[in-house]
Amino acid sequence: MNLILLGPPGVGKGTQAKLLIDRFGIPQISTGDILRAAVKELTPMGAKAKGYMDSGALVPDEVVIGIVEERLAQADCQKGFILDGFPRTVPQADALGQVLSGMGKSIDHVVSLSVDKGELLKRLTGRRACANCGAGYHVDFAPSKVAGVCDACSGQLVQREDDKEETILNRLAVYEAQTAPLIAYYQAAGVLRSVDGLGTVEGVQSDILAAIRA
Ligand code: AMP
Repeated sequence: MNLILLGPPGVGKGTQAKLLIDRFGIPQISTGDILRAAVKELTPMGAKAKGYMDSGALVPDEVVIGIVEERLAQADCQKGFILDGFPRTVPQADALGQVLSGMGKSIDHVVSLSVDKGELLKRLTGRRACANCGAGYHVDFAPSKVAGVCDACSGQLVQREDDKEETILNRLAVYEAQTAPLIAYYQAAGVLRSVDGLGTVEGVQSDILAAIRA
């Protein structure tokens, strides 16, 4: 199954993708995670991407298209994949279509997740991750036992640079301007499945499963 999770930052794409990996045994391809790893490892690509990411802007299309093309060619994508955070622009969606058609593949479902802006802000500003092991927390919805300290490894919990309120507002504006047009794009292609992202993680997951089985 070849799946795209589409939706604004904070809607729950990453959380839902992780559950889908376990269910279907196919990998999640998160361009955000790949870019953050490149920034951390100080690769040339990471150095190029960092400024865009810190301000909440999109990294240039050719960079992310190259990342995804390379990743899709790997053996673990044979049975399918879950794209999380890609495509984010119409040129990226066009390029993806071309890459897949060159491999004799296509997208089966685009799950469009939505929640209102107030909820997105609450989710993103409270998001924390362990600087050591990467475990995710939320100050209100999924707090650690001791504030600021990871339950799993006692590492320090940190906020993503781009989860500061000013940057979040920019990321949401960028989403509206550049990514939201993909809803109509995939609707026209007949693969769009709309799912309400508000509710429990398990409830949203079962709505996603129902939408892709329908
Ligand atoms: P995310 O973790 O998906 O919210 O992505 C974090 C940041 O990485 C975004 O704000 C962008 O700067 C960059 N990024 C991730 N995916 C893409 C993409 N498909 N196109 C352009 N920039 C991206």
